Amino acid sequence: MKSKAESEINHIRQQIENCKNCPLWKTRLNPVAGEGMVTAKVMLIGEAPGKNEDIQGRPFVGRAGKLLDELIQSICKERKEIFITNIVKCRPPKNRNPLKSEIQTCTHYLDKQIELIKPQIIVPLGNFATSYILKKFSISEGRIGTIHGRTYQMKNNSTDSNIIPMYHPAAAIYNPNLKETLEKDFKKIRNLLYNK
Ligand code: URA
Ligand code: SF4
Repeated sequence: MKSKAESEINHIRQQIENCKNCPLWKTRLNPVAGEGMVTAKVMLIGEAPGKNEDIQGRPFVGRAGKLLDELIQSICKERKEIFITNIVKCRPPKNRNPLKSEIQTCTHYLDKQIELIKPQIIVPLGNFATSYILKKFSISEGRIGTIHGRTYQMKNNSTDSNIIPMYHPAAAIYNPNLKETLEKDFKKIRNLLYNK
């Protein structure tokens, strides 16, 4: 039987799939609600779907996704154990940055996903997701280059949670140093999960 949280997550997915609340609906091929188990302990949050995500309707399935998959393998057996989504659910044309107005209009979906999944660890990837998540939980902001890998503790609906901002995997595609940094930062997720 489906849990209540699972039905609610599916309901949000349906809302996203029919959403026309901001102009991005006109150019998207498929909205990308996100995927993973409702019981996920870790939630990874990117910026917005790119070309491949838009075609497939799934998050992180392009080159950045390949790199992310490698990182995910260092913390769990299967990708579906992690909930993966974005702050903006439809692809901005030509992968431009999401606009403030688009982020403002779209993020109530992400808020609801966070509320239902209650992840033990939230990992915003890159400056856009980090800025949104830190502001949401009233934590003072900083650029990703300075604050990546730090653990911020907070309460999410009276559940203890941690936020660990990290570089966006797309930034590491051509930069082996950043890939190494991401690998190190991912170890912090593993340590928290397994109390090491
Ligand atoms: N980049 C993102 O921020 N999100 C995706 O889903 C894919 C690439
Ligand atoms: Fe709706 Fe978000 Fe897509 Fe805009 S980006 S149409 S708000 S789901």
